[in-house]
Amino acid sequence: MESMVRKNANGHRIVLFPAPFQGHINPMFHLASLLHSRGFSITILHTNFNSPDPTNYPNYHFVSVPSGLTTSTDDVVAMILSLNANCEGPFRDQMSRMRLERGGEPIACVVVDALLYSGQAVAKQLGLPTLVLRTGSAASFNMFIAFPLLWKRGYLPIQDSRLEVPVNELPPLRVRDLLRVEQSNPEKLRQLIDLVVKETRTSSAIIFNTFLAIEGNELEKVREELSVPIFPIGPLHKLSPRTEGSLMDQDHSCLDWLDKQDPRSVLYVSFGSLASMDTKELAETAWALANCQQPFLWVLRPGSIRGSARIVLPQGLPQGFEEETRGRGKIVKWAPQQQVLAHPAVAAFWTHNGWNSTVESISEGIPMLCKPYFSDQMGNARYVSEVWKVGIQLENGLERGELESAIKRLMTEKEGDEMKRRARDLKEKAAQCVAKEGSSHVALDKLVDYVLSF
Ligand code: UDP
Repeated sequence: MESMVRKNANGHRIVLFPAPFQGHINPMFHLASLLHSRGFSITILHTNFNSPDPTNYPNYHFVSVPSGLTTSTDDVVAMILSLNANCEGPFRDQMSRMRLERGGEPIACVVVDALLYSGQAVAKQLGLPTLVLRTGSAASFNMFIAFPLLWKRGYLPIQDSRLEVPVNELPPLRVRDLLRVEQSNPEKLRQLIDLVVKETRTSSAIIFNTFLAIEGNELEKVREELSVPIFPIGPLHKLSPRTEGSLMDQDHSCLDWLDKQDPRSVLYVSFGSLASMDTKELAETAWALANCQQPFLWVLRPGSIRGSARIVLPQGLPQGFEEETRGRGKIVKWAPQQQVLAHPAVAAFWTHNGWNSTVESISEGIPMLCKPYFSDQMGNARYVSEVWKVGIQLENGLERGELESAIKRLMTEKEGDEMKRRARDLKEKAAQCVAKEGSSHVALDKLVDYVLSF
């Protein structure tokens, strides 16, 4: 079956257009690698902002489009809206040129990140089958679909007095778990979500980096709401060969450090590529790690401390922290996260619950301490703690005493043992989904057949 597909896919090109953020680039490159292994030629159309390194992928063709962006800002919504506006023309020019230049090798389809609605629109106008890669959860996409209703019923915009109100239309979410970007205008967020859902509704298919065992009901709901074929093929990083999509240099010395630690003893701490904390939160986090007496590996990304772009780490950490944790902790600027989570020394993950981090943790059977910051992270954390019950959610800010006791509950107490057991169970289920007859593997086969049917 596979060799037949591979033969058919030869000579067909797929153009993939990732949104220029780490959590969007990684799954798109895993998908590219999967499609390449099935025989398709790959073109990566990318913005000149946060552009991937083409030398890591000698077999792919890379095309850059100007995005008008030079740096990230906290107002992520404004950034995505202008990205769409700025890229539309250049994307159209490049796609039109590509169709002529690469004549003889037809473009089978375009795969566009869900956030790049203008790219989706252009590809459709050019008559190309357009597939959407949604890099977040199916549950978060249901929240996107429900956005107009949530506004109509007064859940949105979020009011501080209503944070605990249950959202009956999207159980088990509460108002505090809904999509939120503090630094962005709620009206602009509404506009963005409307555009994303509107374009996705008319796409040829949606690909999700999720799997049936954790989001079967949520996927069914998306299927009911949109009459579009859906392909859940996650965890993508478990299905595809390793890829090098990291925008920052990964410090592999932490793997050697992990080799020297006891099995299942280390707390891994990382808040992804965009979240940031203030200096008070930094101090509370540091002291919780110092006081909990557990070995830890902490990713402190340059620029992740708000208001102190020039803070030098680790010297910028509280006085006495280094002495207190010497021999027990390791700090790096950026880690090879998927390998870290798969390492036998790692016991738990203190995470911001970006969807990739959440899926990567679930795939390795690692329970989580959830400290979501913005966007879909609160909803993901709610699923981790309330639906899959493989983590503890921190809800009352970052205070060292609360943090320390949550770390202990997760890492050393009976409550944590239960979570570890359930996490191991989910790891097993994730492995089954990507195995030969598993749902994600089968969905990938169907996706390849579907693309070849255009
Ligand atoms: N990541 C990494 N090294 C790190 C921290 C994160 O390689 O030190 C990767 C992680 O494996 C994940 C991505 O960066 O694939 C972050 O995506 P996620 O959706 O978790 O969060 P975001 O960065 O979008 O907030």
